[in-house]
Amino acid sequence: MTNKPNLKFVIVGHVDHGKSTLIGRLLYDTNSLPPDKIEEIQKTSKDLGRETEFAYLLDHLEEERQQGITIDTTQVFFKTDKREYVIIDAPGHVEFVKNMITGASQAEAAVLIIDVNEGVKEQTKRHAYILSMLGLKQVIVLINKLDLVGYQEFRYGQVSKDIEAFLHSIRIHPIFYIPIAAIKGENIARKTEQMPWYTGPTFLESLDSLSNRKSPHDKSLIFPVQDIYKVDNKRIAAGRVEAGVIRKGQEIKVLPTRQISRVKTIEKFPNEIENASAGESIGITIEDSLFLDRGFVLCNSGEEPFLTDTFQANLFWMAKKEFNKGDKIFIRCSTQETGGKMEAIKKRINSSTLEVGEVIIKTKTPITIKSFYDVQELGRFVIVRDEDICAGGIITDPQIEP
Ligand code: GDP
Repeated sequence: MTNKPNLKFVIVGHVDHGKSTLIGRLLYDTNSLPPDKIEEIQKTSKDLGRETEFAYLLDHLEEERQQGITIDTTQVFFKTDKREYVIIDAPGHVEFVKNMITGASQAEAAVLIIDVNEGVKEQTKRHAYILSMLGLKQVIVLINKLDLVGYQEFRYGQVSKDIEAFLHSIRIHPIFYIPIAAIKGENIARKTEQMPWYTGPTFLESLDSLSNRKSPHDKSLIFPVQDIYKVDNKRIAAGRVEAGVIRKGQEIKVLPTRQISRVKTIEKFPNEIENASAGESIGITIEDSLFLDRGFVLCNSGEEPFLTDTFQANLFWMAKKEFNKGDKIFIRCSTQETGGKMEAIKKRINSSTLEVGEVIIKTKTPITIKSFYDVQELGRFVIVRDEDICAGGIITDPQIEP
C-alpha cells in the first residue's frame, strides 16, 4: 500500500436499515477478514437456518472488543486498489458529534443508509440533520434491501425522491444515490444484474471517487501559542503548528496585537531546527521583544485568520442544559479563552438527547478564528460552565457583522 491518505467515513441510518450488514459485507468483499472469521459467521448463520448474516460479524467483533481482544469496532479498516478506508462507527449520535467536534475522529464523508421498504424515518432525518450541522459535505445515500421489493426501480425512485427533498432542504447535496442489497453484496463491490435500470457506480466505486480533505500542510501558517517559557534569558513560545509551515527567519504576524516580527529560532527539543509543519509541537523565539502570551496566534502576514468578537456557529449541547439568548458564557478556542455571551439563537432543533442550534456568539475581547471547514483547530470551540464543558461548536461564519 502506498502512503496515500486514508479516507474516514461514517455510516448513519435508522436502526435495522442495514448498517451492520453493510459494514460486514464491505469487509467480506474487500477481503479484509481472516478466513476463520468468515467460517464462523457462515456457521452461525447456517445454524440459525439463514443466509450468511453479515450483521453477525459486527456482533462478533463487538464481543471480542468487550473481551478486550484485538479488534476495535469503533474504527473498521478496509482497502480498495485506490486507497485505505476507515469506517468510524458511531454507536450513538452523541458520541459521533463529540468525536467530530473535539477532533477525536474526523469523518470526511458520510453514508446514509435507508431501508427501501421502510423509507425515510424520523431517525434518518435526525442523523442527516446532524451531518448537515457538522458541515459534512460529501454524502452518499444508499437505498438498501432492494431484494425485498423485487428490485423495482419505482420503489427505489419513491424513497430516493423523498430523501432528496429532505436533504436539499437542509443543504445536503449527496454525490450519489445507490440502490443496493447489502446482504447479497449487490452494488456494493460488484454490479448486480438485478437492477439493469441503474447505471451509476457501485458503492465502492462511489467511495473511490470522493476526495480527501486538503491537508493542513498545504495551508497558511497557524501557530497558536500554548505557553511562554523563560530559558537562559530567552523567551520561548511553545505550541503546536496547526496549519502550514513555520520557517526560521520568516516574517510573522502576531495576533491579536497585529505586530510583525521574524522567527529567530525554532526548537524541537533537544534540537534547533530550520522549519516545522502542521502537527509538530515546537518552541520558537522571535527577533523583537514583543509581548507574547498564551492564546496568541502567529501567522503569515497578509494571510491571517479573522480577529473578531462576533461569529456564527453551530452549537451542540446536551438537552438537559439550557442555552438562551443573552446567556453569559465562557469560551475556549484552541489555546484562547474569553468570556462572551449568546448574542442570538437563530435556529434550534432538538434531536432527542442532543440540542443543536445555529447561534451567534459575541466575545468580550476579539479572538482569532477560522471557519471550521478551513482550519479546524481555530474553527471549533467549547463552552465551559462551572468548570464543565457543556457545549461544543463549530464556527460556520467567522465574518458576521457585529
Ligand atoms: P442495523 O441496525 O442498521 O445495523 O441493521 P442490520 O445490519 O442489523 O440489519 C437489520 C436486518 O436487516 C438484519 O436482519 C439484516 O439481515 C437485514 N438486512 C440488511 N440488509 C439487507 C438486505 O439487503 N436485504 C434484506 N433482505 N435484508 C437485509
